Parts: sequence; structure tokens; C-alpha cells
Amino acid sequence: MKLTGHNFIGFERSGNGKVHFQAKNPESQESLETIFFEATTKEIDQAVTKAEGAFLTYKSIKNNQRAAFLEAIGDELLALGDTLINRCKEETALPEARLNGERMRTVNQLKLFAGVVREGSWVDARIDTALPDRQPLPKPDVRQLQVPLGPVGIFGASNFPLAFSVAGGDTASALAAGCPVLVKAHPLHPGTSEMVGQAIINAAQKTGMPDGVFSLVQGTSVDVGMAMVNHPKITAIGFTGSFGGGKALWDAANKREVPIPVFAEMGSSNPVFILPGALSDRNDSIAAGMISSLNLGVGQFCTNPGLVITNVSEDSTHLIEKMKKLATESAAGTMLSAGIKSNYEKGATRLSANHSTELVATGRAGTSVNNAETRLYQTTGQNFIAHPELAEEVFGPTTLHIASEDKNEMLKIAENLEGHLTATIHGTEDDLKVYEDLIAILERKVGRLIFNGYPTGVEVCHSMVHGGPYPATTAPQSTSVGTAAIKRFARPVCYQDFPQTTLPEPIKDGNPLSIWRMVNGQLGKD
Ligand code: NAP
Repeated sequence: MKLTGHNFIGFERSGNGKVHFQAKNPESQESLETIFFEATTKEIDQAVTKAEGAFLTYKSIKNNQRAAFLEAIGDELLALGDTLINRCKEETALPEARLNGERMRTVNQLKLFAGVVREGSWVDARIDTALPDRQPLPKPDVRQLQVPLGPVGIFGASNFPLAFSVAGGDTASALAAGCPVLVKAHPLHPGTSEMVGQAIINAAQKTGMPDGVFSLVQGTSVDVGMAMVNHPKITAIGFTGSFGGGKALWDAANKREVPIPVFAEMGSSNPVFILPGALSDRNDSIAAGMISSLNLGVGQFCTNPGLVITNVSEDSTHLIEKMKKLATESAAGTMLSAGIKSNYEKGATRLSANHSTELVATGRAGTSVNNAETRLYQTTGQNFIAHPELAEEVFGPTTLHIASEDKNEMLKIAENLEGHLTATIHGTEDDLKVYEDLIAILERKVGRLIFNGYPTGVEVCHSMVHGGPYPATTAPQSTSVGTAAIKRFARPVCYQDFPQTTLPEPIKDGNPLSIWRMVNGQLGKD
């Protein structure tokens, strides 16, 4: 596929902007071919207007047809073959195997949502039938279901050029809910984004979707994203990226004349608590697992294990010595951009500037300017509690070991944590009995608790929660991964005393879609 650098305003290509940009290979620093047109405010308005125009048609399309659209996007992504992977590799410096895996994850994610749409029960239909003879007042017939919000604006993420970008989880869940989508591509991979955007448009045309169901705008300036957030017809925002970016979008959305929800996943440092029994039983394997999780994707994952907490003991000393050795042997990897590398170094400076921490291991240096070295820092529990800023995410392969005095100090460390995406506990069953209160504390701090595993590697499934209390996200009641993500882009509406002929299918008598419904308090398919 030949790239043109244009935006997609619905099914039409458009490049009216005077501002142009090119992608850069993060490894060689060379500019890549194809000049991209930054979208103008007028083009963004045209895209949102088309999305609004497509909304009523798209939301009313039969479940099977909407599911076929999602599956067709997956087929189009696969049909792009190596062309997509090669361009993505040039734009991100991520290895081919990782990108092929990420594409399959994206395709499977689309298929999973297609299954949810086809099955249909996600609308959470509830019916309370009328009791006209009830005294002292008759009870009305009340029926509830989830309906799509309207056009949704989505920001592609830098660190997942496929699975959290143009056709990623946010887009898949919004389209599944019945919302037209406008994506602001991440400027680090505009070519990949254009190819994926074309794949979505091909799929939309092949499956009979309305023009405007999907648009893609490009740009390097924050004005493009802000124009999307501030457009009065946009009804919700999906975002994965930095705390600064997510918070700016959230604040802007709340200042609109009509505020809208922002589902921003802004990262976390994912504390890992290693309890005494596990330290004694699996010391070496935990050290190896920790460093491998830390280095995955050059540490550029929001689930990267950035904090490791153990109680002071001989076993703990052994674990840290082993982790130091493995960290020192770790090869440097190329980060996604000079900006991300520079933020990584600022994070290291921030940790080093705090006099209570010590840099105890540094990985091998690389040769490319955007190479990042693995780093292991250490501090005491007391210092960590006194300096809450030490818990801030350092995006990259850096982790801070916190040596706590005893169980009480460990619990205090946990209590002092802000919201994170995950917390991990390594322990034995006996450890869990002794540290029951640690689990209760952590449940209030995170979206996902992991036992004897590592936080990287987020399974895409029905039960996943990839979210958590602020500042990990701006919407702690939601998840951005897994099929429950669809709920972000819908809201409940209830119909009172409407005739059967007018009611939406999911809440009609006789259950024509054969979905799970709650009728007079009983869950069933009758
Ligand atoms: P970012 O700075 O948060 O940017 C992500 C997207 O949000 C970009 O499209 C960006 O638009 C937009 N954006 C950012 N600030 C904005 C603002 N004030 N107004 C409107 N739009 C705004 O993330 P990034 O570029 O991917 O990487 C920068 C840093 O984010 C990294 O160093 C890392 O610390 C962090 N990060 C964290 C995660 C995570 O999962 N926790 C993932 C990726 C990055 P423009 O590109 O047009 O500016």
C-alpha cells in the first residue's frame, strides 16, 4: 500500500493543512518517506460532523452486521501482511516478532468484541413489568438497556502502535458499542496509522457501514487533539499515554460547556511485594522474572514493575544481589522516540536527585542515541514513605527496590501508595494468611491484583481490568482492556410504559434476540 500522508474524513482523503511532518526512525534518526498533512480545525469539524451524521444509522445496524464489520477490520489488517509490519518497525524500532504478536492481539481483540456484539447481552437489558392493580399506586412498565453515547474521540498510544492505536482496544470497544470513531493518530507512527485507517475504511465499505463511522486525523501539535476534545458533538474520549497528556485532556473536557467523560489510562509504577515464604522458596526465579518483566519492550509498558518491596532479610539481600547481576548484564534497547528517551533520563535524574536513593545497578550501554539502559535503584521503607514522589512512574526499564523493616512498615508503604494499574504479590499460602491485610489495602489502590506472576502481559478477555484509581486513570470504574471496556461508551436509558412496537429489540417481550435479561429481578433468557 502506498502512503499519501492524508487524513481520512470518513471515506474521503483530505490534506488541506499547511503544517506538514514526517516520521523518524528512532534507531537511525532518519526521516522516513511520506509527508503527512496535519489536520486543520475545519477538517476535524468535517470528520465529527460526518460521525454525527452516521450515528443513527450505525447504532441501528443489526448486531450480526456490526460484528462482521469488526471481523472484517481484522481481516484487512492481516491482508496488509509484511507491508504494515515493515513500516511499523521503521517507525517504532520495535522488533518484528513483537509487532506480529501485537497485530494478532489486535485482530483477536476485534474478534472478541465481534462475539460480544453478536451475542448481544452486553446491553444489560432489565425489565420490570407493570402492576396496574398495585395499591396505593399502579406500578408502571419500566425497561432499561445500554445505548451508545455518540461520536467518540480516541488518541493512539505511542507504545502500542497497533493494539492501543488506530484499530486498538479503544476503537474496537467504541465501534462495538455502536459509536462512530474519530482517531487522532500518534505522531510517532503516522504511516502505520494511515495503513490501519485504510484497513478500517475498506472493512466499513465492504460490510455496508455508513460514511463517517470512522475518521482519522494526523498531527504533531496538541491543537489537533484539543479540537477533537472540544468539539461539541464528541461525546467521550479514550486515551493511553502520559499523566500530563491525560490530565490536560480531562481538564479540557471538564471545562467544556457540556463536559464529557475522558477514559484516560495514564500509567503507573505497579508495585511488586515479595513476601518471606516466596523469597525463601523461589528467590532466583523471582529475580529472573522481575528483570525480564522490567526489560520487556525496553520498559515501555504502563504495567512495567517500577517498585519492588521486600522486608530486610538474608533472602532479600540474595534476591537483590541476583537482580543487580541480571540488571548489569541487560542489553540496552532503543526507545520509541528522542522525547521518550529524554523523559526516561529525567526520571533517572529525579530518582538520583533524591538523596535517600542509591543507583545500585546499571545495564549495558547501547550505541544508538535513543538506547536506554536498565537501572536498579534502592531505598529504605522509611525514606520511601517520607518521599511519596519516589512512587512516580519512570517510563522505561528502571525499578526501585524498597527495603522495609518489617510487616508493619510494608503495610504502611502499601497504605501510602496512590492509584496504580496493578499490584503483584509473590508469596506462599502461609504468607497470604499472615499478610491478609496487605491484600485488603492493595484492593483499594489498584485495578488488578496478581499472585506469583508479573504485571506485564495484559490478557485480553472478559474478566480483565486494566484500570485503577486516579492518578492511574481518570475513570476508576472502568477498564480499557477486555470486553467490559465496551461499557465506557454506552449509558443506560429506560423506557417507561412504551408500546411493544416502539421498544428497542433487546427489551421487547418474547426476547427476540435471545439475550440474557433481568426480568422482574430474575436473570434468564425467557
Ligand atoms: P503523551 O505525551 O501523553 O501523548 C499521547 C497523545 O496525547 C499524543 O497524541 C499527544 O498529542 C496527546 N497529548 C499529550 N498532551 C496533550 C495535551 N496537553 N493536549 C492535547 N493532546 C495532548 O504520550 P507519548 O507521546 O506517547 O509519550 C510521552 C510520555 O508519556 C512518555 O515519556 C511516557 O512517560 C508516557 N507514556 C506513558 C504510557 C503509559 O502507558 N503509561 C504510554 C505512553 C507514554 P501530540 O503528539 O500531538 O502532542
